[in-house]
Amino acid sequence: MTAMTPVFPGSVDAAGQRATLGVLGGGQLGRMFVHAAQRLGYFTAVLEPDVHSPAGQVSHHHIQTGYDDPAGLAQLAHLCQAITTEFENVPAQALQTLALTRPVAPSAAVVGIAQDRVAEKAHFAACADLSGVTCAPYAVIETLAQRQAVQAERAELLPGILKTARMGYDGKGQVRVKTAEELAAAWAELGGVACVLEKMLPLTAECSVLVARGWDGQVVSFAPQRNVHVEGILAVTHAYAGNMPPTLAERAQAAAVAIAQHLGYVGVLCVEFFVVDDGSTHGGLIVNEMAPRPHNSGHYTMDACDASQFDLQVHTMAGLPLPQPRQHSPAIMLNLLGDVWFDASGQLQEPDWRSVLSLPGTHLHLYGKLEARAGRKMGHLTITGPDVASVKTVARRAAGLLGLPGLDDI
Ligand code: ATP
Ligand code: MG
Repeated sequence: MTAMTPVFPGSVDAAGQRATLGVLGGGQLGRMFVHAAQRLGYFTAVLEPDVHSPAGQVSHHHIQTGYDDPAGLAQLAHLCQAITTEFENVPAQALQTLALTRPVAPSAAVVGIAQDRVAEKAHFAACADLSGVTCAPYAVIETLAQRQAVQAERAELLPGILKTARMGYDGKGQVRVKTAEELAAAWAELGGVACVLEKMLPLTAECSVLVARGWDGQVVSFAPQRNVHVEGILAVTHAYAGNMPPTLAERAQAAAVAIAQHLGYVGVLCVEFFVVDDGSTHGGLIVNEMAPRPHNSGHYTMDACDASQFDLQVHTMAGLPLPQPRQHSPAIMLNLLGDVWFDASGQLQEPDWRSVLSLPGTHLHLYGKLEARAGRKMGHLTITGPDVASVKTVARRAAGLLGLPGLDDI
């Protein structure tokens, strides 16, 4: 679909139905999408099997079926004038079914690319001339013969990271391997499924760029945010001018836009990059992966920008105008994993919200998850302020109070 009739909030169609936007998936990204859509005046529908899901709790409609349940999908299409997804591992077929009768953004085709590291890397290679960036050296391992060939002929990829082609997130489905023997063991450990072996790069930094593209091809984007990961999970996002060298920031932003354009993407896309020491003063840029949806590293936009990544998701899917967003405050986002709810001896504890919330410029977002578990994303805390120095000071204090890692470098 190249154009669509806008679905304006608060409108009522010929059948008397209120403008309703739908989302596949009920996690925290779906919840924040629902909040953004409802603030504009839309009704919302969430398709998610989990009864207690973060998004289901806050939506007008919650369809409790599997993502590929024909009756559930039919109900979602019946209720909604436009539909999006909040995670890339939704069956692409579900998006395709919905697209038969409703505008769906992003499309099944682009979600299909983003959910398969092999297809994703092929896309990055196909638009490397346009984007000016390539991905880390890698090899595809789908068969025993391919694994043996890589062991025999691609020694330069070790040490490396073996990543499952599908269903990985937050560092899951990844094994770091140093030797050919470790590679063989790791592939067996991952069940012999399709994988890519990626060369381990000496990263000096990581960043990501959020792009929003409408049905009419209009594109807006945010400046790159710098991300700090701890044990493969995002811990801290730095979002302010000077968070990385300007030359790199410009290149990353342009590359992300080119990648979205080349896909004919509609919706919000997040492109993750590595910065490596290539001997130049500003470092080299490598594209890592893309998420066909808003991203954890873009949560700061809710409190630091005049339009958030979720607002843009609503605007793109509903065919609303897409003005360039503006960041009005420097920000640091701290991820709150379930670990925060446990003390050093492993006993459950209530985080010290009284102290955290007494700090100026703190914005707490909890996702309504009933049970805290180590490594589980429970919420995030964004700190905004009048200048970068005061944001850093408050972020350090908040991290100290909550025992959060990842702030050593500020
Ligand atoms: P998410 O979906 O949460 O972004 P993921 O499970 O899809 O994560 P990746 O983004 O591929 O995983 O990797 C997670 C982290 O592991 C990266 O952000 C980076 O810190 C590290 N990492 C991944 N690949 C490499 C590499 N080739 N060299 C060095 N570090 C890497
Ligand atoms: Mg990643």
